[in-house]
Amino acid sequence: MTPPPNGADHGLPRVVRDTLPLALDVAVQVAALNGVCIRPIEVRRFDTCTGRTEPFDLPCATTNEAKCPPCAQRNKQLRKAQCREGWHLDVEPVTEPHPATDDQKWLIEFRADVQARRDAAERDGQDTTDWDEAIAGIDAEINAAGMRGNLTGRTTARRSRSTRRRQDTPDLPRRARCNTTLGRTFTAPDGTVFRPSLFVTLTLPSYGKIRPGQGVPVDPAAYDYARAARDALHFSKLVDRFVQNLRRVAGYDVQYFATVEPQKRFAPHLHMAIRGTLPRTEIKAIAAATYHQVWWPPVDDVKFEGEHLPVWTERAEPYPDGQAGDYLDPVTGELLPTWDQALDHLDADDQAEPLHVIRFGAQVDVQGLLAGSTDAHRRIGYLTKYLTKSLGDTLDLDQDDNEAAPTRAVINQARRDHATRLIEALRYEPCSPTCANWLRYGIQPKGAKAGMVPGRCRGKAHKPEHLGYAGRRVLVSRKWSNKALRDHKADRRAWVLDMLGLPDNVETDPHRYIWRPVTAKDPTRTPLPVRLLRGVANRQRTRARLDELRARAEGRPLPDLSATSALGVAA
Ligand SMILES: [Zn+2]
Ligand SMILES: [Zn+2]
Repeated sequence: MTPPPNGADHGLPRVVRDTLPLALDVAVQVAALNGVCIRPIEVRRFDTCTGRTEPFDLPCATTNEAKCPPCAQRNKQLRKAQCREGWHLDVEPVTEPHPATDDQKWLIEFRADVQARRDAAERDGQDTTDWDEAIAGIDAEINAAGMRGNLTGRTTARRSRSTRRRQDTPDLPRRARCNTTLGRTFTAPDGTVFRPSLFVTLTLPSYGKIRPGQGVPVDPAAYDYARAARDALHFSKLVDRFVQNLRRVAGYDVQYFATVEPQKRFAPHLHMAIRGTLPRTEIKAIAAATYHQVWWPPVDDVKFEGEHLPVWTERAEPYPDGQAGDYLDPVTGELLPTWDQALDHLDADDQAEPLHVIRFGAQVDVQGLLAGSTDAHRRIGYLTKYLTKSLGDTLDLDQDDNEAAPTRAVINQARRDHATRLIEALRYEPCSPTCANWLRYGIQPKGAKAGMVPGRCRGKAHKPEHLGYAGRRVLVSRKWSNKALRDHKADRRAWVLDMLGLPDNVETDPHRYIWRPVTAKDPTRTPLPVRLLRGVANRQRTRARLDELRARAEGRPLPDLSATSALGVAA
């Protein structure tokens, strides 16, 4: 977790340098204790009016991912607020996209700038890891700023045509469509209006009998790890299909706030707060009818493994598909089909079967709730409970699993073994079209590059902390509330600025500042410990002033401030 000391330290005497990892460790702990991001992305802001350059630290990506613990914690608080906001909305949310704020504009410009530099670095044959990391961070900020649609200049090339097969629409009843996102209300004889809503939990099928309370298979040899791995990899697509089918049946523009959480057996499952209500039997019928087909080339036939692996060969000139070379069979000298060719082949084959078909399990839980009830409040806590953890962070039993210590140790070991087997099942499973594992089955991954080795894909899905699920952890429909996560941050920011008696100046000239990323190789980069402690100092100053004001403003209602460190209130 501790990042390595960065390049700027190499000018220091050895004695000082040797003590740095320790200093960094301490700085990380202090930052974490203060709720300050421990993996900040360093940028510089050049002010074209004053000619001054100021350092800034963007918090690490905070939208959907538990990147660093303080950011994850803060993000969880914001998500709670967002969930609460939309569940029982009684007026239609504003559907016009907000005009881009200046904040958003600079993010876009900054993103474009960084992308250009990244591409230049790539052209010069330099390592682009730092740039990609910075871009991912900025993308997260942009998403958090509530912007929709795609930005140009993604880091990976997009496929120019779609060969995806049509997915059949399941045979389900449909209601006449009405143009609303609000659920029905019911009025009691005394005039009280009830606004019912739903809390739905959807689970994947069984892969084998599980020991109750432990989450481990009774018979690991009989447990279908291969299927569990594929289901986890494609779970997010199944959720998309469920939402589409739900909207078809419901007849109104159903809005939801959902989280993907690990079950005790490590399979992902979905909790979904739905605005409005439908009969339980209908939700169950929709879940039962929902499926997703994965139209990828077959992987039954292992063509390359061990020492016998495809070999990379440079092309005389890169093709329009952007590949600088191809993989070939070292024995026959034949080029492996590219990803596009493999998909074309699949399309042309009338007998072809999908690589995988994923469905939900029979266990579908549907609860009806009423606006403002304690049950509804409790579900919000439930929805966001594990957001600070990755799927694979839940290996050990919870403290509230009432087991004696020796038994607990045995169970926890069994759980680790279970996770290891799942990771093993994911090792050679293609996680995406760009996965290096395609080489094992004789196909060049999409956008193939030199150095790809099957079994060593660096995709998130293969990693122990993700256990096959690399999708978003929080899924919020577009018209859930009037507010994007960024607006919830802005609410708190405005409140704090007001409390501090500071003006809420929004810089009106979007061209005033020029933002530049600072890479790990930049010799003038601020050492990470210094940046962390700077963050802590800013936060403490803000806190001290807040406490002062809090003491003065007695009786004034205080919002939940646990999420305030994303503020730009640095003194
Ligand atoms: Zn962070
Ligand atoms: Zn992969």
